[in-house]
Amino acid sequence: MTRPARALIDLAALRHNYALARQRHGERVLAVLKANAYGHGAVRCAQALADSADGFAVAFLDEAPVLREAGLQAPLLVLEGAFSERELEAVSARGLWTVVHHEDQVRMIEQAPAAVRGLHVWLKIDSGMHRAGLAPQAVRDAHARLVASDKVSRITLMSHFACADEPDARLTHEQLAVFDAATKGLPGERSISNSAGVLAWPGANRNWARPGILLYGANPVPGNQEALRPVMHLQSEVFAERVLEAGDTLGYGATFTADRRTRIGLVAIGYADGYPRRAQTGTPVAVGGRITRTVGRVSMDMMTVDLSDLPGEGVGSPVELWGAQVPVNEVATHAGMISYELLCNVKRVPLVYSDDAAA
Ligand SMILES: *Cc1c(COP(=O)(O)O)cnc(C)c1O
Repeated sequence: MTRPARALIDLAALRHNYALARQRHGERVLAVLKANAYGHGAVRCAQALADSADGFAVAFLDEAPVLREAGLQAPLLVLEGAFSERELEAVSARGLWTVVHHEDQVRMIEQAPAAVRGLHVWLKIDSGMHRAGLAPQAVRDAHARLVASDKVSRITLMSHFACADEPDARLTHEQLAVFDAATKGLPGERSISNSAGVLAWPGANRNWARPGILLYGANPVPGNQEALRPVMHLQSEVFAERVLEAGDTLGYGATFTADRRTRIGLVAIGYADGYPRRAQTGTPVAVGGRITRTVGRVSMDMMTVDLSDLPGEGVGSPVELWGAQVPVNEVATHAGMISYELLCNVKRVPLVYSDDAAA
């Protein structure tokens, strides 16, 4: 290690959160590992869940081979489906499950070469998010064509929520009603809930849930008290300190001006590691296990924290940017971002894995 900075990934916490999702949802749960498991390392996360997970999901076909090569046998769903006939052939050859969410993908299956067969299609219905998915009135026809294509051995009916992180959102009630009406009487299993659905909309539980962010311990539902455990602990150290006199400014843009004698610690991590440059002065950060605040602008390779009220802390003190002491959601709020962005953006720092329940 060239400098004190790392993202400690607590795999026991990941398993805890998966088990909680399963318990809340009641039925089977696909662990969403897209975007390198939201920055946590897809292969290691998949391996940690291999004994417990009912299956996994990635966004794109390119994300699948590395998981299969790492020995993962479980069902693996490609959430965006095939982008071309070649991708459809690869989906079939690798035994992946694939989402079909627009007309071109239905046609692609109808016209696929003979080698494509036995597909498990997740037919996605646009129940009101109006992003991806077949219109409710097009579902029965698409379903019949997939069955008639001879390429499909199983169809699961799915949809996706736009506002499940808002308690009692009208749109979520409407989406459920639209989904149930559009799929009424059609055979096959159902899947609706993402993390927010699992946590806040028990009425959306069907045969499969597809949580992502909750597995990584960031609750997407404001105020929800579920006992999720943070998986990523972004850590560094104070490596230098200095004292500002009242009136001194600090850092790029001189955005911070000391209003009193202020002791500043320099921390060996910056926006090139994924800590958000947009985090304002006052963003919580833990030094030596106690909460203080960031001051001034975050630089590419370092950032500055206020040590004035932490007389025992200085060079060598451990710093947690987010994790058990500083919820990633709080950092996100101070940066005008969401936890998803922060976690996915982590780079350059080594991912260090721990499988110890106490980590
Ligand atoms: C990313 C994604 C999920 C997981 O969403 P979270 O909010 O992280 O739980 C579920 N379903 C689909 C279709 C997705 O694209």
